[in-house]
Amino acid sequence: MRQDQEDPYQRRSARAYAAADRAGSGSLGSLRGVLYDAVLLDRDGTLIEDVPYNGDPEKVRSVPGARAALDRLRAAGLRLAVVTNQSGLARGYFTGEQMRAVHARVEELLGRFDAWLVCPHDDADGCDCRKPAPGLVHAAARELGTTPSRCVLVGDIGRDVAAALAAGAAGVLVPTPVTRPEEVAAAGWVANDLPAAVEEILRRQEAVQPATPPGGPVRTALVVRSDSAGDVLVTGPAIRAVAAGAQRVVLLCGPRGRAAADLLPGVDEIIEHPLPWIDPMPAPVDPEGMRSLTARLGAVGADQAVVFTSFHQSALPLALLLRMAGIGRIAAISDDYPGSLLDIRHRVPVGVPEPERALSLAAAAGHRLPDGDEPVLRLRRDAVAPRPADLGDPGYVVLHPGSAASSRACPPDLAARIAGALTAAGHRVLVTGSADERGVTARVAAAGGTDLGGRTDLAGLAAIVADAGAVVVGNTGPAHLAAAAGVPVVSLFAPTVPFGQWGPYRVPTVRLGDAATPCRDTRAANCPVPGHPCLSRIDPDEVVDALRTLAVSSGGGGGR
Ligand SMILES: [Zn+2]
Repeated sequence: MRQDQEDPYQRRSARAYAAADRAGSGSLGSLRGVLYDAVLLDRDGTLIEDVPYNGDPEKVRSVPGARAALDRLRAAGLRLAVVTNQSGLARGYFTGEQMRAVHARVEELLGRFDAWLVCPHDDADGCDCRKPAPGLVHAAARELGTTPSRCVLVGDIGRDVAAALAAGAAGVLVPTPVTRPEEVAAAGWVANDLPAAVEEILRRQEAVQPATPPGGPVRTALVVRSDSAGDVLVTGPAIRAVAAGAQRVVLLCGPRGRAAADLLPGVDEIIEHPLPWIDPMPAPVDPEGMRSLTARLGAVGADQAVVFTSFHQSALPLALLLRMAGIGRIAAISDDYPGSLLDIRHRVPVGVPEPERALSLAAAAGHRLPDGDEPVLRLRRDAVAPRPADLGDPGYVVLHPGSAASSRACPPDLAARIAGALTAAGHRVLVTGSADERGVTARVAAAGGTDLGGRTDLAGLAAIVADAGAVVVGNTGPAHLAAAAGVPVVSLFAPTVPFGQWGPYRVPTVRLGDAATPCRDTRAANCPVPGHPCLSRIDPDEVVDALRTLAVSSGGGGGR
């Protein structure tokens, strides 16, 4: 299938939207890193030893290795800000003048920061800047001339990480002895100490920049992402990076990912074929089918193939077919020894977000996103269906209870209680789901909301999500549709896979659910723990509070 070449999101007009994106992101120019412009640091327990309500500069002690670590960030061109809750001001434990003296001492020890953002309030004040509210992160990004999604925040407690995620920034937790175990379990990115956090920030930033060119001109690139819609959507930024360096991009996907593949910018042509070593419910291997796939891949005439996989999937069976199809340059992530099947064998540590993991493979193959194309999920505008007119104004809340894997679905009873609580709080709720989830969506919508079960295909769902104030959803495809539209997510995230890899990417998010239940990291498709406790213990009022944190208004209109 040859797709519309006039699409504004296609790479041929990349410069147009690149300019638009750049306009909103300061004047850092084309030398900046792909992922981050700035690092935001919590103060007490992260930069300096925590001395409760300290107003005395003499008592300031930096944490080990802080100065050298911060200087590495400065040398890499990253801007630095401190974001700190100081309720001691509200409580009268120290004065503003004493606090400024403490901060002057911090800069003597650790060097200059580009901005200091302080919340002077107490929990009782209900301000929007006291972490876990995202106000300080928004303010810091503004003051540094960037956006929250181009910031990474380092802190020592759950409040720090929550504030980062709610603003759409990345959050690194550096636990101290006072950090609670459930905060460590819930964090998607954990480092042992500040120097280790800095090392990984710089490593991730470096990993998505190609060290060498693709090793020759790339007229046609074959990119591969089998598996489901969500997998295909999170690979989108990497496919755009390949598209920026190739004249033509052919995507091989599986039937489960086809609808998502149709939504991706940068793809010129799609080949759909199930891969029995990837599919979760595989049919027996059909030798004739494999022979015809090999012939079809050979007919693509690709100069280069980039095979994207999840960490538990193998790229090697396909690499063998690609070799038999005569493709000369093949890149893939493989911990297994590839022999002569791969030209570029890439390795990635666990815990890296899937979009970055894929971008780092594209970089290893010589490709990077063009300047101004942010490393966010995107959809082709022309592929997203118009939203049905009978849904009213934008700003509603989409509640999507289902998932292809039941372990990652919201229990129907809980979803119904959430629908009731949201409606009672003044939100307009649209309940979405596939045709075979209609029983659940009807039951949930009966508790409050409009039942759209079975009414949408993926493109139709993308249109509905794009006009939502927020989406309440488990770890499944629509969470990534929301990320692609920049719509905030309340993530009811079952910990069967790591949140840091599969959580909504670079979009304001509140994570709910118990991250420390025994299903953690099992990758189970069906919950192995009676009662599905990771999600079933969520209180519907937590969802209402999450929407408040994400500044989603309940008046029905607007909300964004
Ligand atoms: Zn405040």
